[in-house]
Amino acid sequence: MAKTPITVAYGDGIGPEIMAATLDIIQAAGAELAIEEIEIGEKVYLRGNSAGIDPSAWESLRRTKVFLKAPITTPQGGGFKSLNVTTRKMLGLFANVRPCNSYHPFVQTKHPVMDVVIVRENEEDLYAGIEHQQTDEVVQCLKLISRPGTEKIIRYAFEYARQYGRKKVTCFSKDNIMKLTDGLFHKMFDEIGAEYPDLEKEHWIVDIGAAKLADTPEAFDVIVMPNLYGDILSDVAAQIAGSVGLAGSANIGAGFAMFEAIHGSAPRRAGQNVANPSGLLLGAVQMLIHINQAPIAEKVHNAWLKTLEDGIHTYDVFDEAVSKQKVGTKEFAQAVIARLGQKPSKLKAVDYSKAVGKTIEVKLKPTPESKKELVGIDVFVSFKNRDANKLGEQIKNIKGGNMVFNMITNRGVKVYPDGFPETFCTDHWRCRFKNAELKPSSYADAMNIMKQVHDAGLEIIKTENLYTFNGEPGFSLGQGQ
Ligand code: NAD
Repeated sequence: MAKTPITVAYGDGIGPEIMAATLDIIQAAGAELAIEEIEIGEKVYLRGNSAGIDPSAWESLRRTKVFLKAPITTPQGGGFKSLNVTTRKMLGLFANVRPCNSYHPFVQTKHPVMDVVIVRENEEDLYAGIEHQQTDEVVQCLKLISRPGTEKIIRYAFEYARQYGRKKVTCFSKDNIMKLTDGLFHKMFDEIGAEYPDLEKEHWIVDIGAAKLADTPEAFDVIVMPNLYGDILSDVAAQIAGSVGLAGSANIGAGFAMFEAIHGSAPRRAGQNVANPSGLLLGAVQMLIHINQAPIAEKVHNAWLKTLEDGIHTYDVFDEAVSKQKVGTKEFAQAVIARLGQKPSKLKAVDYSKAVGKTIEVKLKPTPESKKELVGIDVFVSFKNRDANKLGEQIKNIKGGNMVFNMITNRGVKVYPDGFPETFCTDHWRCRFKNAELKPSSYADAMNIMKQVHDAGLEIIKTENLYTFNGEPGFSLGQGQ
């Protein structure tokens, strides 16, 4: 077999030890790798590079397109950019895949039967980091959900489920509240899911879904979710499976992929040969599948399960009741190597015969073009007086072309006309002007409205255009409207 070039970073803290153990194991199993080593993390940050990665390292990553990364230490204090976020965004790693398994009775857990894979969208949602302070009292963060971004992650989840012999894909969203953003995510899940009749599909509102996941993880198989929910729930899932120290993760893009443990660099444990290399090893197992060395991945994973089952444990999972031997990082690696070719007898052995990672290609359908028409404008103003009626009286007669005043909301709730005196109002108001029959208007009319609002002595802090798409409103109603 030809050697596959990969880029390896040994990282900080326990990183070098767990990386050495991981590479020893996978190479002993027969992985064919041409390793390029790069330096990232603390040393690079402290040399004055605020990104924690040198330009030459990017060159290696561009060449190999496969990154096995040990955890790094982000120095304390401001000014250092998260290397993980930078890598994900720069390399377009849109999917974060995190298998969360319990290993009962060999690792303590309240959930003896747990075998869940969380597929988290990795690039958009609130993580675009577009935030603004708009008034003394109100700051905002923009939640962006795109059609291609959503299609990519949902297709990836279904393709993953098929290739790994999974039965069900569940979607978590909050579309009862965020009807447009999370609504798009849910809608795409239903639309794309229809192309996978062999897989069971279900949707949960994220709050009750999360509760169910924490309580009854055995009810789930593959779960796909937008970025923020995925960030939170993938940690919850890894922790309730038994230990965050045992989970690996893959960050997958169209041309690139990055594999790592989910834990950090544990500096207090560094250099003592005590760290558990399992999280990084399971990241490397995902990497081997990705580079079409699935038989090696299967061999490593099963030998690792057998080691766990034989009670050979590092300090973090060691338990007098079930463990037989407490070992260090190197000895653990040797124990796994000694079991290569064996399968676990009590834990379920893995079967990667259908898994051919690199071929999970996500082909996007062209975005359907719709007839888009401007039918109104939301003008956001700063207004210090908490009385909605005072603001309403100032603007209720403003109109531009066929757009007329419609309502005022405060934090999304309609407060004028006919608001409740009980509703608390901040200094951040949205004033909506639109055509009642959703007939098209012009931006000149919208600007005319803005001018009148400005001339009324009000401070405009931002505006949002109200469009229809094929006649359907592309904006939500005010709460209580
Ligand atoms: P951590 O995950 O490093 O450690 C948390 C706890 O888990 C510690 O008690 C540690 O001893 C234990 N632990 C973690 N991994 C272990 C392993 N493999 N074997 C045995 N015990 C293990 O989290 P932290 O202490 O919050 O962060 C330390 C540093 O790691 C910080 O600088 C943080 O920024 C960085 N970090 C990096 C990544 C990454 O590179 N992907 C992720 C998270 C944190």
